[in-house]
Amino acid sequence: SHCDIDDSSASFVKNPTIKFTKLFINGEFIDSISGKTFETIDPRTTETIARIAEGDKKDVDLAVKAARQAFDHGPWPRLPGSERARIMMKFADLIDENVEELASLDTIDAGKLYSMGKAVDIPQASCTLRYYAGAADKIHGQVLKMSREFHGYTLLEPIGVVGHIIPWNFPMGMFLLKISPALAAGCTMVVKPAEQTPLSALYCAHLAKLAGIPDGVLNVVTGFGPTAGAAISSHMDIDAVSFTGSPEVGRKVMQAAAASNLKVVSLELGGKSPLIIFDDVDVDMAAELAIFGILYNKGEICVASSRVYVQEGIYDELVKKLVEKAKAWVVGNPFDPKVQHGPQVDKKQFEKILSYIEHGKREGATLLTGGKPLGGKGYFIEPTIFSEVKEEMLIAQDEIFGPVMALAKFKTIEEAIERANSTRYGLAAGILTKDINVANTVSRSIRAGTIWINCYFAFDNDCPFGGYKMSGFGRDHGLEALHKYLQVKSVVTPLYNTPW
Ligand code: NAD
Repeated sequence: SHCDIDDSSASFVKNPTIKFTKLFINGEFIDSISGKTFETIDPRTTETIARIAEGDKKDVDLAVKAARQAFDHGPWPRLPGSERARIMMKFADLIDENVEELASLDTIDAGKLYSMGKAVDIPQASCTLRYYAGAADKIHGQVLKMSREFHGYTLLEPIGVVGHIIPWNFPMGMFLLKISPALAAGCTMVVKPAEQTPLSALYCAHLAKLAGIPDGVLNVVTGFGPTAGAAISSHMDIDAVSFTGSPEVGRKVMQAAAASNLKVVSLELGGKSPLIIFDDVDVDMAAELAIFGILYNKGEICVASSRVYVQEGIYDELVKKLVEKAKAWVVGNPFDPKVQHGPQVDKKQFEKILSYIEHGKREGATLLTGGKPLGGKGYFIEPTIFSEVKEEMLIAQDEIFGPVMALAKFKTIEEAIERANSTRYGLAAGILTKDINVANTVSRSIRAGTIWINCYFAFDNDCPFGGYKMSGFGRDHGLEALHKYLQVKSVVTPLYNTPW
């Protein structure tokens, strides 16, 4: 192993060796054309982990050339699906074999829990690859019922060169979520990881090469959004761009796509997801789910249950339990197996979250617990709960992307639905109730892409995931995601040898 394992605590990986810091273009790790580099920071200590090649427009051009060459003339789109699947399965196995290194890279880069990375994030990422590998030889069109004497059918063809622009909250998960369906479809691609978390993506590029993904099929250009990211969304030779991040940047990506070559766009732009808790539930279970829903991954998850609506009958009891649980939640070094919550990803997020907390206080919400940094080095913030939150407050409307819960009381099912729908987002919602009629009514009344009934974060590779409203459009996961990377071609020929 390249990791420094502390034997006193099983799988306690502290300092992985950083092996890959350059751009991955056409199967090689290379410096950026400008020779520039940027620092990636460990949010536990605020110290520099490594300097990473800083790609910009010129490097994106180079990567797109390689991807275009691989698409137009390389084997990848032309291989039998079963052969692409075989290589993708091997890639997945290599990810599993490197689970400790990949998990520890995400821990030092993003402050994520090592235990979760090892047990959940990385294994799920390799499963995503396997899910789409399984689909690679089952991509087929339809025979059409033509109204005249023609034989018509559709071919599903890879869309071409794809650009993926991804965020930092699930570096490995996002990377595989985007590239897996595109690889299965037979596309070639350029990925720009978030500047905060480039390490695991570069490591993965190395594994892809080992697995036998041909040169030029998967290119990784590390760098910043306004340069490298914008070069992808405005590129004339990229056929589709798939983006996950903030609505502000999503809008820019769409504008750049419109202003350049009208490339296909899909956007996943976060949320302000409501968790609605009805009177009839087990209060302990509800408190557990609500706390997990906001504090998992330190609130840096687009489906965080950041708004919790509790029916009046159990409100007081539930609030007491939420506060107890938030106070008992362990914040600290994400490599420590006892810790439940590491540092926020960077200074910008840390300051943004604290400024929302100040807003909440000024707007008149009641701060029940937390609200402060932990103190000392690192970007740690206490689990924070506000009650008496009103719909018009900023902390009820904006995605804070941190460990901050906005709590409110409701009376009727109608009120719950109305308040749940009262933001510009529509990514996910949770409903806790024993009453099937209530669950059915609420799930059909909420405008969101995913509804979890009596559970939360129940992701699955086969379960399409994406937004309504300003949470974006297009779906990741499921066979729907495969179709983001496919074109439909209609082919028509006369049934009989009829002259025109
Ligand atoms: P962001 O939208 O700025 O960054 C996401 C990705 O887009 C990064 O790779 C970034 O480099 C790139 N990017 C930035 N500017 C770009 C541009 N002009 N053109 C093309 N690409 C560009 O997100 P952020 O600043 O890292 O986080 C801000 C907020 O976004 C968070 O607080 C959170 O609310 C939201 N967010 C949502 C998700 C999600 O899963 N939906 C993930 C991360 C962040």
